[in-house]
Amino acid sequence: MQLNLNGTGREGSSRNIEEHKGWLALWAAEVPGKAKIHVWRLIQNGLAVGDELQRRNIKEGVRCIACNQEETLLHRFWKCPHSVAIWESASQLTGLPFVKPDAMVRTYHDLHGRVLDWLGKLDDKELSISVMIMYQAWLARNDARDEVCIATPSVIVRRSLALLEEWREAQQSRIQLETRAVEHWQPPAEGWTKANTDGAFLAREGVGASGLILRDHHGRFVEGSCRFFTAIPDPERVELLACKEALILAKEKDV
Ligand SMILES: [Zn+2]
Repeated sequence: MQLNLNGTGREGSSRNIEEHKGWLALWAAEVPGKAKIHVWRLIQNGLAVGDELQRRNIKEGVRCIACNQEETLLHRFWKCPHSVAIWESASQLTGLPFVKPDAMVRTYHDLHGRVLDWLGKLDDKELSISVMIMYQAWLARNDARDEVCIATPSVIVRRSLALLEEWREAQQSRIQLETRAVEHWQPPAEGWTKANTDGAFLAREGVGASGLILRDHHGRFVEGSCRFFTAIPDPERVELLACKEALILAKEKDV
């Protein structure tokens, strides 16, 4: 996918629709939230690149870490030879036609709209990989600031693909856990009482709370309680305390 350098002649409403599609695509992209926020900041010209730091009188003389040229947003993501190599490496490794830097916008003037146009036209796979690469490329350059060489384009692309895969697997596990969590309650065998417990933990304050309910084999309520705990080091402690509370209550009720 290429970004069109030339003006399209479209009027405002058409432009707004295209930009809207770009925003929708970005927020729907299957990538970690941090990567989306990063590209959002890129589109809004909210990233601290060299020329922007100078324009805001924050810091002068920040040059490209890879080639020592003036560091602009366009240079950092698309124009720098290192960035050109990143997109080429992405194409080689995935077989997808990623954006060609020579087809990118040349000024900030319409960067906002052009990038949104581009995002809106990518298919799902290109979109998620592109967003992740832009984020990882940014991090790789930041990591290189402390006398450490910037990672090679191939390493950045491979890292992006691996992290994306890792994130997807974690998402899948989370969905499976949530699916399991909505399974229907099953009563215990006849003559038995079942305890269900749950705990909540607030790490910032080191406190937790638990709730529990005892039910018989008909599903009838036998007893329930909730407790608040202080000086809790981790969530597992709350879960254990909830189980202990259930056992104490079951003994008290002689069930
Ligand atoms: Zn450069």
